[in-house]
Amino acid sequence: MARIGLLGGTFNPIHIGHLRSAIESIELLSLDELRLTPNFLPPHRENPSVDAEKRLTMVKLAVEKIPKLVVDDLELKRNKLSYTFDTLKALQKALPIEDTLFFIVGWDAFCGLPTWHRWQELLNYCHILVLQRPHLSAKIPHELAIFLQDKLVDYNQITGRVGKIAYLQQTPLDISSTKIRTNLAQGKSVQFLLPDNVLDYINLHKLYQ
Ligand code: ATP
Repeated sequence: MARIGLLGGTFNPIHIGHLRSAIESIELLSLDELRLTPNFLPPHRENPSVDAEKRLTMVKLAVEKIPKLVVDDLELKRNKLSYTFDTLKALQKALPIEDTLFFIVGWDAFCGLPTWHRWQELLNYCHILVLQRPHLSAKIPHELAIFLQDKLVDYNQITGRVGKIAYLQQTPLDISSTKIRTNLAQGKSVQFLLPDNVLDYINLHKLYQ
C-alpha cells in the first residue's frame, strides 16, 4: 500500500524550489517515496550546453542523503519527448494495484494542463497535487476551472486511489531554473539557490556560463 509521488521537470538545473517542494509534499501527504523524473529536452537554441545525462547527474547529486527522494530516469531512457499521460500509465502498470500515485506539478505547469496530451485522462492513473509558485501570473483557463469543480479537495481529504486534485501550500520559494541560468550567465552567485554539490558540478563542467 505504498504512496508514491512523481515530480517531473527539466531540472535544468535542479534547485531548492524543487527540493523543498518535494520534501514538504512527502511530509504533507505521508508519501513513502517521491520520484524526480527528468524530462528529455530536445536540443534547442537557448540552452544547448546541458545534455540529459548532466541534468540527471545533478538530480542524483541533489537527492543524495535525502530520505525518500529518488531519481527515476524512465523518460530520459526513452530518448524522445514523453507525454505525461504515457509516463503515468506506464508507472501505474508497473506498481502493485493497491499503491497510490500522486503526480506533483507547479502552478504554472498546472495552468497549462489543457494543452497536454489526453489531459483529462491523467486522473485515471493518479491524484494531482499542485504546488504554489510565488510571483507567477499564470491564470487558470476556463475549461480547467470547470474540470476542477468536482475534483478539487483539501490535500488531507484525498480518498481513493485516483481522481482528485489538491493544492499544496508549501513554503513559497521564488526560484526558477531560468533565474539560476541567467545569474550564472551573468557571472552572479547562485549559492544557496541549489545544493552545494550541484553547484560544484556546474562549476566543474562550466555549465550555463
Ligand atoms: P525553468 O525556469 O527552466 O522553466 P523551473 O524552475 O520551472 O524551470 P522545471 O524543471 O521546469 O523548473 O520544474 C519542474 C516542476 O517543478 C514544474 O511543475 C514546476 O512548476 C515546479 N517548480 C519549479 N520551481 C518551483 C518552485 N520554486 N516552487 C514550486 N514548484 C516549482
